[in-house]
Amino acid sequence: MGPPGVGKGTQAVRLARRLGVVHVATGDILRDAVQGATALGARVREYVDGGSLVPDALVGDLIEERLGSPDAAAGFVLDGFPRTAEQVAILDRVLANLGVTLDRVVLLRAPDGEIVDRLTGRRVCPTCKAVFHVRNRPPRVSGRCDECGDGLVQRKDDVEDVIRGRLAVFLEQTEPAIRLYRERGALRDVDSFGDPEAVAERLWDVLTPESRS
Ligand code: AMP
Repeated sequence: MGPPGVGKGTQAVRLARRLGVVHVATGDILRDAVQGATALGARVREYVDGGSLVPDALVGDLIEERLGSPDAAAGFVLDGFPRTAEQVAILDRVLANLGVTLDRVVLLRAPDGEIVDRLTGRRVCPTCKAVFHVRNRPPRVSGRCDECGDGLVQRKDDVEDVIRGRLAVFLEQTEPAIRLYRERGALRDVDSFGDPEAVAERLWDVLTPESRS
């Protein structure tokens, strides 16, 4: 969990790879639907492009289907879900049905100023979802993904006025969800400043405290 631009995608992709489990990002699922001009895409386009949240029940159905698929049986890293108190309740129900418990909930944190800078400079690969930054993490070839060579794009919601709205949505709708996990004693805070390698190590330490020397 964490505000937009805090590094959830960057860290979740790495973490899933390191753990050998699937990375499940509701934002990616929804953006793919919009891009693919599917019926789902038509229903969610305005929310996704405008930076407001897609209705809980719809995202809940997507998550239920995704977590029930065979490749998620060995575990998963959730990225960008749950984002509201209602979604926490939905996830509780889905996991109970699957007989799965959450190992950890992590909150990534960074100052607002850094978040706006990260989001306005962010460029993403629509194909493999790799994340770059025009200054902090430029691709080797300008405008091309290091991983798969596809053209990089700027997300429609990564422009300043939409970013401000997304931060407000985070405060109003996602903070209550975070509070629920904090009250349950499940939440771990990780500072998400500095280079992604350092953040990944801090995150790993929190997830595997027994590995600390
Ligand atoms: P993200 O890629 O996580 O920043 O998500 C991009 C956009 O997708 C959000 O601004 C929402 O419009 C939508 N979205 C992603 N995850 C959720 C969620 N859990 N609940 C509702 N909307 C979501």
